Amino acid sequence: MFVWEKGVSRREFLQSCLGALGAAGFSSLVFVRCTTTPTGKKAFILISEEEETKLGESAFTEIMAQEKPSKNKRQADLLRKVGQRIAAVSHRPDHRWQFELIASEQVNAFALPGGKVAFYEGIMPFCQNEAGIACVMGHEVGHVAARHGAQRISQQLAVQGALTAVDLSVTRNSKNRNVILGALGVGATLGVLLPYSREHEYEADKLGLMYMAKAGYDPEEAVLFWERFAELSKGQPKVPEFLSTHPMSENRVREMRKNLPEAKRLYDAAPVKYGKGETG
Ligand SMILES: [Zn+2]
Repeated sequence: MFVWEKGVSRREFLQSCLGALGAAGFSSLVFVRCTTTPTGKKAFILISEEEETKLGESAFTEIMAQEKPSKNKRQADLLRKVGQRIAAVSHRPDHRWQFELIASEQVNAFALPGGKVAFYEGIMPFCQNEAGIACVMGHEVGHVAARHGAQRISQQLAVQGALTAVDLSVTRNSKNRNVILGALGVGATLGVLLPYSREHEYEADKLGLMYMAKAGYDPEEAVLFWERFAELSKGQPKVPEFLSTHPMSENRVREMRKNLPEAKRLYDAAPVKYGKGETG
């Protein structure tokens, strides 16, 4: 019934199972099962896509109410164009995708279940061009398509035994608000930070590479983007937010290079090719 995923420690996994089983005994609302994600992986997921989407949408509404939209129409349009192209070739073209550019120096981007994606203006100079945007976008859309948010919410809720009192909302008086927002990876904005596991990160990297290639952006640019991002960040007074949750490592680059031939085949087969696209 349960599949132990590499990204979860054995202790965490056992706690998840026990928590979930205990909760299932008390609540008919909980349907304990292992699910196959849209990207074809078996995962421990306790919430439906509908619930996950609702959570993503309400967290997004809350965040956007606190942020100002960018006045840079050209960049915001570029972001939407790239986002739509990537979403269209992803495993979930059917989500109600939305792509917003936030007026903030923060060097960050995030995506929430259901397809709500935001970039902060500060990350745009690092992206440099459409292919750079496509690289970050592909990665973020990959997290959504692979249901990483739902997996983390499930783990966190189960570990805390919180499922005995199922409260799947992110409203201010919600008991599980911080658990859910943290699990959705929007901590940088709301004060709870929980980076995705390395396995989720690598899966999002791989999905992102394939999506950008299928959408017609040169996948070689992804490796260049990540190397450039790590290099440019060295001159910054503090580590950019996105890099602190997405640390570069030799292994990470090696994994990307390993996936490059497959991505190149998809790029060769893409009906339209944009290369690097427009400069951002
Ligand atoms: Zn990520």
